[in-house]
Amino acid sequence: MTVTDTQAMIQRIMDQLYEDETILPQESGDTRKRLFESGKEILTTTDKVIKSYIRVTRDDRSIERVPAYRIQHNNIAGFYKGGIRYNEVVNEQEVENLAVLMTLKNALHDLPYGGAKGGVVISPDRYSDRELYMIAKKYVQRFVPDIGPTHDIPAPDMGTNDQTMDWMVGEYKTIKPGENYLGAFTGKSVENGGAKGRRESTGKGTYRSYLWLLDTWTRRTNRTSVKEGVHQKQYDTLKSLLDKNDSGSAITVAVQGFGNVGSVAAEMADQCDRLNHRVVAVSDQYVTLFHEDGLDVQALARYQIKRRHLPVTEAELQEADIKATIRDRNDLVYLDVDVLILAAIEDVVNENNVDQVPAKVFVEGANAPIDSVADTILHDEGRVVIPDVLANAGGVMVSYVEWKQDRVTELFTEEEVIREMYNKMEASCEKVFESYFKEGLSGIRNTCYVHALKRLFLLHYRHGKLY
Ligand code: GLU
Repeated sequence: MTVTDTQAMIQRIMDQLYEDETILPQESGDTRKRLFESGKEILTTTDKVIKSYIRVTRDDRSIERVPAYRIQHNNIAGFYKGGIRYNEVVNEQEVENLAVLMTLKNALHDLPYGGAKGGVVISPDRYSDRELYMIAKKYVQRFVPDIGPTHDIPAPDMGTNDQTMDWMVGEYKTIKPGENYLGAFTGKSVENGGAKGRRESTGKGTYRSYLWLLDTWTRRTNRTSVKEGVHQKQYDTLKSLLDKNDSGSAITVAVQGFGNVGSVAAEMADQCDRLNHRVVAVSDQYVTLFHEDGLDVQALARYQIKRRHLPVTEAELQEADIKATIRDRNDLVYLDVDVLILAAIEDVVNENNVDQVPAKVFVEGANAPIDSVADTILHDEGRVVIPDVLANAGGVMVSYVEWKQDRVTELFTEEEVIREMYNKMEASCEKVFESYFKEGLSGIRNTCYVHALKRLFLLHYRHGKLY
């Protein structure tokens, strides 16, 4: 999805909200129309685009000049917030789109944040630690006037991690002595004021959104209370998995991506005491591992932490004492499983392959793993997609806990951190799935954006920004 697609989606949903007469009923005819037009204009435009260049002296003494961005979309709901991505395909449109999506994600989950995103056009695995340290330092030097604990709070994203944030904090502290430097970045190491459990938080949140939908919502919901048509079809899909579980069979799961998100979600499914799962396949950028009786997920996670990848040869499988067959990395999505957790990259289920993907429930741990055509097809067939904006918000929810922790200089326990994230995730799931299934809105992803945009629009109104 490009930034233009996202803006078109915002326009469309704002038009839908305009039809809802319970929104701003006190405003009459022409004024109400004008307020909505103004809201549309504000929400589809970006507050600030900052582009700079970072000069890096490589270890061989050659000099490179790489583009870097910080893009602040909207801060009506609170301080700008969003990660910094290091990737060689980063470009201004992508960063802007991700900034808009951060505004929507934070608004959906009632976090007191607006949306922003940063990016540096490098492929981090081609750089030494010293070079990465220099890049982090210079990023802060370039963007420091626009960053701060009560202005814009970056965090890690693809290609960056707690070490990147620690380096950035170090530089920020040097440049701005006396400021609450810890509060200026989240996703730091625990030693440096980071929240305990941050690394696992996105994967745990992803799994929690699925568990809540299947085991809490479906269990307590009566089919007759669900809107007829495709909504009931989707309810039936969920109910059939639950019935399978309740009659003693295992729900089969495949997980694409075995990094921070996928490996944790796989372990959560494997260890779940509420539902009986069998994780039959996992994959990373090199390989798919499959076993129809289920994989030893914990042994795989231990191996992955040591080697940074899954076992790729028979010898490596033996060394890790894992029984599995080795398949092509792209095979995973075509396996006949009940649940597919997508925690790797974009567009893996798309208009060209969707008819060969048999899973019934899809959980988007990564951003945009299902393209919009495939998303519509899955929806129309009565399959269920838990969208990224909902399913991968555990990370930014824990960022919020970390940021609060650094304001009160008190360390929360891992249980407290994860409990708060689960509470937030479940509250968001309740809001989204109840309104989607009962009021019959036109898609789960759409329902998330309807909630987010309604909140943002009304905040602009309350702040007097629409006149
Ligand atoms: N990069 C993560 C995301 O896209 C975390 C952002 C944050 O914690 O600010 O949600």
